[in-house]
Amino acid sequence: MREFDLPPDEFRRYGHQLIDWVADYLAETRKFPVEPDTKPGTLIDALPKAAPEKGEPMECILADFEKFVVPAVNHWNHPRFHAYFSVSASGPGILGELLTATLNTNGMLWKSSPANTELEMTVMSWLRQWIGLPESFFGMIHDTASTATLHAIAAARAQTAPETRAQGAPRDLVVYTSIHAHSSVEKGALSLGVGQENVRKIGVDSEYRMRPDLLEAAIAADRRAGLRPCCVVSTTGTTSVTSVDPVAAVQKIASREGLWHHVDAAYGGTAAILDEYKWMLDGADEADSLVMNPHKWLFTPIDLSAFYCRKPEILKQAFSLVPPYLQTADDPRAVNLMDYGIPLGRRFRALKLWFVMRWFGREKVQQILREHIRWAKELGETIRRHPQFEVAAPIPLSLVVFRMKGSDQENRELVERFNATGYGFLAGSVLDGRYVLRLAIGNIATTREDVFGAWERLSSIAAHSI
Ligand code: PLP
Repeated sequence: MREFDLPPDEFRRYGHQLIDWVADYLAETRKFPVEPDTKPGTLIDALPKAAPEKGEPMECILADFEKFVVPAVNHWNHPRFHAYFSVSASGPGILGELLTATLNTNGMLWKSSPANTELEMTVMSWLRQWIGLPESFFGMIHDTASTATLHAIAAARAQTAPETRAQGAPRDLVVYTSIHAHSSVEKGALSLGVGQENVRKIGVDSEYRMRPDLLEAAIAADRRAGLRPCCVVSTTGTTSVTSVDPVAAVQKIASREGLWHHVDAAYGGTAAILDEYKWMLDGADEADSLVMNPHKWLFTPIDLSAFYCRKPEILKQAFSLVPPYLQTADDPRAVNLMDYGIPLGRRFRALKLWFVMRWFGREKVQQILREHIRWAKELGETIRRHPQFEVAAPIPLSLVVFRMKGSDQENRELVERFNATGYGFLAGSVLDGRYVLRLAIGNIATTREDVFGAWERLSSIAAHSI
C-alpha cells in the first residue's frame, strides 16, 4: 500500500534536505574529526533497546542521525583519512548509488532486470579496457575482493578436482600465495575446505615480491608428497607495502604446472589505468582470473569489486544450480549472472561505476592517480631526509610505509597521539617484525597540503615526544 510509504511531497522535501546535507558534507568533510572520539558501546547505549511500535517522524530520524550516528563515524571520505587504503565516495558515485536504491532491481537473471546485467557487462568491459586486459576476460561485479578471490579459488578447485561438485572438497589441494598476500586469500581457501596446512605462504625478495624460485620449489615438494597443487594467487599492490609480485613469472609457472592463477589487483589494479603502470599487469593477460576494486582507488562508493575470469565456464561448473522457478529461455546474449557465483540476489552496483567512469573519463582519473603517486613519492623523499624517521619499504604507488627511529611502543604512541588530534587518521602495521606506520593517499578530495599537513603534525608530535 503506497499510501503507507513516505508521501511523495515529504519524500521530495526530505530528499532535498538530505542532498543538501550530502553536498555540505562533501564540501566540508574537513570540519569533522577524522576518527570519532567515542568508546565501544556508546552508540548502542544511546539508542533504544527495541524498534518503535509506531512509526516516527522523519525529522526525528534525521536529527538522531546527526546527534548519535555522525559522531560515531570514522570519516572514510575525509581527505586526511590515510589509514588502510584511502577510498572515496565521489559525487557521481553517490548519485549512481541513489538510483540503485531507488530502482531496487535484482539482477540475478537477465530477465529479472536486463539493465542490471547489460550495464554490468558494459562497465566491466570498459574497465577491462582501461586496465589493458584482453577481451577474453569475462567480467562481473562482486561486493568485495574477498568474495571475488573466494570465487577464483572455487573455480581453481573445480578445475583441479571436478569431483568436488558431487563429492565435496578433497583434502589434497594446495593453494599458494606470498607471505604478504591479503588475508582474504587464506580466508577464501579456508571457506572452501582447503585447510590452513595446505595454504603455502611463499617467501619474498628484498622488495616484498613473491619469489618464483620458492614457488616452484614449494610446488615440487607438494607433488613429491602426493598433494595436488591447485591455485596460485599473486598480488599487484600488497596491502602491507603495495609490492608488486612478478605476475608474468608466476604465470609461466602456473601454466607449466597446470595451476589456476588468480591476480589480486584489488588496490594496485587501478594504477594500470596509467600507461606508465601497465607493466604491473604484464602477464595477467594469460592469468585465469583477476580482481580489482573500484571501491578502493577509483572513486566508487563501497562496495564494488570487479572480477575478471578467462574461464567463465569453470565458474559455471562450480556454481550453476538452477531451480525450476529460475529457469529462463536459452539465449547466448541473455547472461544470467547468478550462474557464475554464490549469491542469487545481485544489487545494481554497475550504475555507480557507470556514473563514475562517464563523469570523470579516463583522463581525469589518470590525472588524479598521478598526483596521488607523486605526493607519496615526494613524502617518501621528505621522510628519508628527516633525521628522526626512516622509510620502511619502496613506494611504487600511493602508500608510504615508514617509522620513527625508536621502539615499536614509541611508534604506536605516535600514531595514537596523531589520531587523537582528529586532524588525520593513520593505521600501523608490522613489517619485518617491526611496527610501521602506513600513510595511504587515495581520497579524491585529498590535496598535497593535506598530505604534508599530516606529515608536519606527525613529525612535530614526534619532535616533542623526545
Ligand atoms: N586484496 C588486497 C591487496 C587488499 O588490500 C584488500 C583490502 O584492503 C583486499 C584484497 C580485500 O578487499 P575487500 O575489502 O574488497 O574484500
